[in-house]
Amino acid sequence: MRTAEIRQRWLDYFGSKGHEIVPSVPLVSPDPSILFTIAGMVPFIPYILGTETAPWPRAASVQKCIRTNDIENVGRTTRHGTFFQMNGNFSFGDYFKREAIDFAWELLTTDQGKGGYGFDGDRLWVTVWEQDDEAFDALTKGVGLDPKHIVRLPREENFWDTGRPGPAGPCAEWHYDRGPAYGPEAVGGNVDPGGDRYLEIWNLVFDQFVRGEGQGKDYPLLGELDHKSIDTGAGLERIAYLLQGKENLFEIDEVFPVISRLEEMTGKRYGAGSAEDDVRMRVVADHVRSSLMVIGDGVRPSNEGRGYVLRRLIRRGVRAARLLGVDGVALPDLLPVSKDAMKASYPELETDFTRISDVAYAEEDAFRRTLAAGTTILDTAVSRAKAGSTGGTPVLGGAEAFQLHDTYGFPIDLTLEMAAEQGVQVDEKAFRDLMATQKQRARADALAKKTGHADLRAYESLSKDLVTPVEFLGYTDREAAV
Ligand code: ATP
Ligand code: MG
Ligand code: MG
Ligand code: MG
Repeated sequence: MRTAEIRQRWLDYFGSKGHEIVPSVPLVSPDPSILFTIAGMVPFIPYILGTETAPWPRAASVQKCIRTNDIENVGRTTRHGTFFQMNGNFSFGDYFKREAIDFAWELLTTDQGKGGYGFDGDRLWVTVWEQDDEAFDALTKGVGLDPKHIVRLPREENFWDTGRPGPAGPCAEWHYDRGPAYGPEAVGGNVDPGGDRYLEIWNLVFDQFVRGEGQGKDYPLLGELDHKSIDTGAGLERIAYLLQGKENLFEIDEVFPVISRLEEMTGKRYGAGSAEDDVRMRVVADHVRSSLMVIGDGVRPSNEGRGYVLRRLIRRGVRAARLLGVDGVALPDLLPVSKDAMKASYPELETDFTRISDVAYAEEDAFRRTLAAGTTILDTAVSRAKAGSTGGTPVLGGAEAFQLHDTYGFPIDLTLEMAAEQGVQVDEKAFRDLMATQKQRARADALAKKTGHADLRAYESLSKDLVTPVEFLGYTDREAAV
């Protein structure tokens, strides 16, 4: 089943159950506290918290998401993309736990010929909060899941809140057992969320309680909410990789064509034995797709915020392609392939492609110029660090990293990555100190220019925010969204 069809089935199923079908909001988050939309619930936060009345009691969507916190996992785990689509169904004070569980079971296990996804119910495992007997009963007596496939977890593992007093509640996370070839059976119920065998596909959040003050998950539950909500998120690409019989989400119809094109360009075959090359191919395919979608939603490369995330995605993708042996430009070959793979669900990519590709190709060109200027300097610095090393990991000095940044436009993350590839560390602290000093000087200069003399009081107050992080690392979980 193609990914576009899996997506449509989701919307059809929840539409048939009275849900308003709400289009995806852009990747540029409508919530100003985060850069990108990181979950399906983001546009519905006020309705879930009950601070605004929802225009419909129940809704469903397939939301475009970017999670920068997963960037290091990309290509290495089977299940993390930087861009992915989160299928969601939501109830705002309407149905609750029992119905949400019924819906999930029905959609997952109904035959494909009858509109469902046709998963074997015996392969499903669900983690619930250890005190959530209601969920346990709905899963066992209700839909008939084997009680051995239900894992009761403490609050630290399976409980949602916003980080402050207010709504909170348990989750039920659905996993698919990929079978013994991927690891041992979950003895004693440990579905090993980091492992390969039990793939997390769908998280149901039951927004049920009012929580009080407390640190972390250590807070009292003060009672039940009047206005209970359901917020769920299922990874479209994860469902697709299972239904398409693939090993990971980079092998699905929406992503793999880029890998095929890379095979043609490099003469290397995916899965032919080099694990490192396979990771690189998956990274390229992921980052090309994410760049396509992010530019499609109006972001342009820059040195801060969203633009910097985009710049980093393009650079990492282009560099991984170079390491695979693509010497010429990569994006003019790869971006159209990604667009063709995505346009069934996002036809606007086709109509907007000239604009999107202009932005992407210009950024690749700029990056190639940067690389050409800086690589020799970096290699020399790396050799010097190695030669000067007296045992242990060689260290490239902060001043050299700073010069690469300042004179050759080499961003620090690139210096870090390229040095690490050659077994060399970078004195990042010294680099950041130099950056801070430079910024301080620049601000003092600007001020002196403006006022004709350096106003030290203003300078003092400015200096507090001098050390800005070079890179936005992203939020690590959905809690951070609210
Ligand atoms: P994981 O533990 O695998 O990192 P998660 O617990 O962080 O996932 P949730 O925040 O519960 O994920 O998001 C809901 C669903 O969205 C997940 O069950 C999964 O199917 C999907 N999902 C989350 N992150 C990604 C990602 N980076 N790429 C693809 N799908 C994802
Ligand atoms: Mg998880
Ligand atoms: Mg989860
Ligand atoms: Mg995660």
